[in-house]
Amino acid sequence: MKKALVIEDNPDVLDVLSRQLEMLGFAVITANNGVDGVEKAIGEKCDIILMDIMMPGMDGREATRRIRSNPMSKEIPILATTVLFTELELNKCIEAGCNDYIVKPFTPYHRTPCT
Ligand SMILES: [Mg+2]
Repeated sequence: MKKALVIEDNPDVLDVLSRQLEMLGFAVITANNGVDGVEKAIGEKCDIILMDIMMPGMDGREATRRIRSNPMSKEIPILATTVLFTELELNKCIEAGCNDYIVKPFTPYHRTPCT
């Protein structure tokens, strides 16, 4: 089973993202701050990381830089999850080392089409 790490300080968003990833077949581990997220990224051998950008304390860009600078975690794909949708802000995510980004609010994934 593929493992996803969700780093997100908002518990509701964390819950939504975790459920979505579980529906897609991932085992999900979570962290609600950057420090814990970096630690889990290095220790947990996950296949993908969803990274909130705006978090108190260590923000998502700094957490991404730390994950990228550690040999244990530097190859893990990181998707930024952010409300900051301007080109400037999104480019900052890429410069920090994120592979790509998804902009909040998200469109939920449904297993069957809604009628
Ligand atoms: Mg946040």
